[in-house]
Amino acid sequence: MTVANLWVVLEPSGDSFTTTSLEVLSFARTLSDTVSAITWGEGSSLAPQAGDFGAGTLYDVGDLGGALPGVPVASAIASLVERVGAPDDILIPTSYDGRDIAARLSARLDRPVLSNVTGLRDDNGLVTEHPVFGGSLTVSARFTSEGPGIVLVRAKSFAAEASGGGPASVVAASPGDQGSSAGATIVNTHVEERTGPKLEEATVVVSGGRGLGSADSYVLIEELAKLLHGAAGASRAIVDAGWVPYSHQVGQTGKTVKPLVYIACGISGATQHMVGMKGSKNIVAINKDPDAPIFQIADLGIVGDVHKVLPALIDSLKGRS
Ligand SMILES: Cc1cc2nc3c(=O)[nH]c(=O)nc-3n(C[C@H](O)[C@H](O)[C@H](O)COP(=O)(O)OP(=O)(O)OC[C@H]3O[C@@H](n4cnc5c(N)ncnc54)[C@H](O)[C@@H]3O)c2cc1C
Repeated sequence: MTVANLWVVLEPSGDSFTTTSLEVLSFARTLSDTVSAITWGEGSSLAPQAGDFGAGTLYDVGDLGGALPGVPVASAIASLVERVGAPDDILIPTSYDGRDIAARLSARLDRPVLSNVTGLRDDNGLVTEHPVFGGSLTVSARFTSEGPGIVLVRAKSFAAEASGGGPASVVAASPGDQGSSAGATIVNTHVEERTGPKLEEATVVVSGGRGLGSADSYVLIEELAKLLHGAAGASRAIVDAGWVPYSHQVGQTGKTVKPLVYIACGISGATQHMVGMKGSKNIVAINKDPDAPIFQIADLGIVGDVHKVLPALIDSLKGRS
């Protein structure tokens, strides 16, 4: 292995690290024998999980005192680089906080960031893969100058798999001098209401598009998703139209999902949508246009009107329960 030493940022979320963090950590241990992790806040008590998924050492930035992670975590990583020496690369899961950490770390270390990464391999150094042109092509890239590369990895690029390792050893990582940016604190948080599983973790996703005709019809998507114990998703067209919040958007500029079953209802199948769901195990498409591009990747296609097909599906599922 030429990638001798990797660091992975692990974002805490309640009593676990985020799924994307665990996906990145799982893959990191296939690339390098020495994988360390950096976390903060509630992550401090998750050394057993960090070890189980492949980290030998867990650098703990500690309680952030009401600050967003970007400033203190980037500062702590920069201080660690000075104190213990730089790793070959620093892998960061893509999220709001992950992007913030990457950008601030880039400024602190004067190193570039490779973002939107969906694949990684060791080829005499780390090589990253990025989907371009709406996912129709993949380009490979590598850092050409000395110093740790900063890599932002997209959700669902790898599988999260425990390795059965013992707890990681916890080492304190002080944020050090954070400059004037440290003055910002969180004054309020808003947790978006959700029933059922998270979109990016659901085993069934039912998504609606412009073919629904109006915001009111989205209730059909929610009802079918609920009956299938799944999550409701959306195309960008209906997010832009204000029918549903951005958190529902699947695709290039939304979420990447890989459920067992993805049901696309009234969605044409633009490449920017498909890049976010084409990894689904089984794709079902309902569209009244037999030539809609979504049928090219569908395992099961229903040519029909969503206003007829969805109520019939819902009635039939209700009849079974
Ligand atoms: C930089 C960039 C990023 C983007 N990112 C994303 C992204 O992340 N996610 C995303 O989804 N899009 C994204 N888009 C937008 C994308 O290009 C498409 O415009 C969008 O996906 C179209 O949404 P849609 O399929 O709902 O609507 P349309 O393309 O308008 O398709 C509607 C479909 O519904 C069908 N239909 C109409 N009436 C009915 C009916 N009664 N019953 C059944 N079917 C019916 C039609 O035949 C049609 O196929 C992006 C675009 C750009 C340029």
